[in-house]
Amino acid sequence: MLVVYTGGTFGMVYDAKSKALIPFDFSQVLELVPEILRLDINIKFISLPTVIDSSDMNPEIWGQMAQIIFENYYLYDGFVVLHGTDTMAYSASALSFMLQNLDKPVIFTGAQLPIGVARTDARENLMTSLELAAAQENGRPAVPEVAIYFNAQLLRGNRAKKKESSQLNAFRSENYPVLAEAGVTIEFNWPYIKKHVDSAPFQINTRFDTRVGILKLFPGIGRAVVRAVLETPGLRGVILETFGAGNAPTEPWFLEEIALAIGRGTVLFNVSQCDGGRVTQGYYQTSRFLGEVGVVSGGDITLEAAITKLMFCLGQNTDNEVVKALLVSTIVGELT
Ligand code: ASP
Repeated sequence: MLVVYTGGTFGMVYDAKSKALIPFDFSQVLELVPEILRLDINIKFISLPTVIDSSDMNPEIWGQMAQIIFENYYLYDGFVVLHGTDTMAYSASALSFMLQNLDKPVIFTGAQLPIGVARTDARENLMTSLELAAAQENGRPAVPEVAIYFNAQLLRGNRAKKKESSQLNAFRSENYPVLAEAGVTIEFNWPYIKKHVDSAPFQINTRFDTRVGILKLFPGIGRAVVRAVLETPGLRGVILETFGAGNAPTEPWFLEEIALAIGRGTVLFNVSQCDGGRVTQGYYQTSRFLGEVGVVSGGDITLEAAITKLMFCLGQNTDNEVVKALLVSTIVGELT
């Protein structure tokens, strides 16, 4: 098993000088979790060149993580990525697109309390993630996909969202069932876990295009704000974070700005501000125009999966029609 340490609260210590939590040297982890040695799993730890608070995460570091997994893919049965919770859902989504034809577990986990704190959740999250990454079913890895394990639940990585910053149950997946629950035993939800693919070889594709943006709508949003986002020089794709089932204002100036952006060749992707349910363009009159003018419906995708998918699809293609076709189809189970 390869454990990739990227930073986050999991391995942080209190720095008296800055009076804040900062990442620490992970070589001390075995002193803090000696019970790891009792697991019947051969574990190797590796750290990113620079460990970070996950608020500093970016596509280049996603590429480094993907590269580590690629280089070690045939040496290990599974991978555990220790990551800050703040952007874990973005990273898990990004890696789900970067790691193509993945047939082994990549389990992201972290903690709400640093590992050195007596009540920490880091220990259980790490121990169970290791068990999940090592779990086999019919002689093959039980979870051959990118997932997040946190607070007794295993979630599909590109379906999860950080929903809680103080309770220990930090993550939820509103539109896709839990993949496994860890109680006295680990109960797998087999119908919802990705099936093995034997045909294609594992490969990575780390080309992401960051010329993207997110325009979150709110009642009272003004034309200047909409323009400032949509007219950003070089922008190739924007997520429109809409209301409810994908609805937006019907004021003529708003519709005009949307049509102008599409006319300039910007891909617009409609993702709801609601965590549960799905975007259905045309269900209400307030979303019909979006579909008519060429805004792409995000269905039940999360914002985290949507922005990483947009970066991925734009990174692979220059033809907007190909990008749009990819956005509405499921690449790695990110939408229903
Ligand atoms: N700020 C931290 C991070 O995301 C929070 C955490 O790890 O839970 O790196």
